[in-house]
Amino acid sequence: MNLTNRLNKLREGLAGKEVDAILISQPKNRHYLSGFDGSAGYLLITPQKTILATDFRYIEQAKIQAPEYDIFHITNEIADWFSRLLGESDLKKLGFEAGHMTFALYKQLTDILNGMKSRLRLVSIEGLVESLRAVKEPEEIEFITRAVEITDSAFEYIEGMLQTGMSEREVAWEIEKFLREKGSQPLPFDIIVASGPNAALPHAKPSERVIQAGEPVIIDIGARINEYTSDMTRTFCLGDPDDTFKKVYDTVLGAQLSALAIIKEGMSGSEADSLARTVVEEAGYKKAFGHGLGHGVGLATHEMPRLGPNSTDKLASGMVFTIEPGIYLPGWGGVRIEDMAVIQDGKVKVISKASKS
Ligand code: ZN
Ligand code: ZN
Repeated sequence: MNLTNRLNKLREGLAGKEVDAILISQPKNRHYLSGFDGSAGYLLITPQKTILATDFRYIEQAKIQAPEYDIFHITNEIADWFSRLLGESDLKKLGFEAGHMTFALYKQLTDILNGMKSRLRLVSIEGLVESLRAVKEPEEIEFITRAVEITDSAFEYIEGMLQTGMSEREVAWEIEKFLREKGSQPLPFDIIVASGPNAALPHAKPSERVIQAGEPVIIDIGARINEYTSDMTRTFCLGDPDDTFKKVYDTVLGAQLSALAIIKEGMSGSEADSLARTVVEEAGYKKAFGHGLGHGVGLATHEMPRLGPNSTDKLASGMVFTIEPGIYLPGWGGVRIEDMAVIQDGKVKVISKASKS
């Protein structure tokens, strides 16, 4: 990882928001900016300093994983250390991550600052580190690609393993074992295996329902390599699909392919979304595609950019995201096809390779 580059960009972003420094509390952002992947701690990044504040459990780990940072020992009592962390620094505006910091902590920090009669003000910052994370470095794309390769091989395994008479939970467990044995870290999200009417719920939980012939089976899975994740979906049908399945499947696939043919650098998330949405609407399923077209994937399975009806996020080279149109018909089931793509040299390139036929 190129930490210097990440920190430079962050500091430029802070200057743009007229903030002197930032207190990072969001775990993925903390990891991204320091290399430290422990479960607790804060980063204080000022124009001159980079400080990683963590507790006894993580001090040694922090020294190893974040050699660029000064390590600062904290306890559970923030009142004991927050003013010491700020030290002699002459900061006037300290950014905090509004999307992550709890109201309780925010109140504690303000009380401490008031008690110190400090001139320092807390300023809410949203999406700054997230927008840096959206554009991947080559090494990050490599990790994601390896996670996708494992996921591709899992879909090949599923094609051979999936049978009528198996319950959704059995199938989910077989897939989980496969992904772990192929080298995935703990899975980034719970596997979805949704059969028949359950497939009408975009985020169904695997149940004891037994898979039958002729019905849709949505399988949505991801792997994790070096903390970077993948997210892919295929929809299967064992035996002879009915006419609804054929029409819905062709529509979803058509929507996905037409979006993938046109998406490019500079396009907004809502423009990308409308490419697929138009195809779904023209087939008469306007109300059945109730979620956005896709989302960024990286250290988190859902991150920037967002591809959806109201998204102003601009697609840029280095961004990795899903393209996942779906149609859900209550009582019948649903179809979703989800692939992962990256923008390289201005053009979209599909990373995932699992069969869609
Ligand atoms: Zn998914
Ligand atoms: Zn997804």
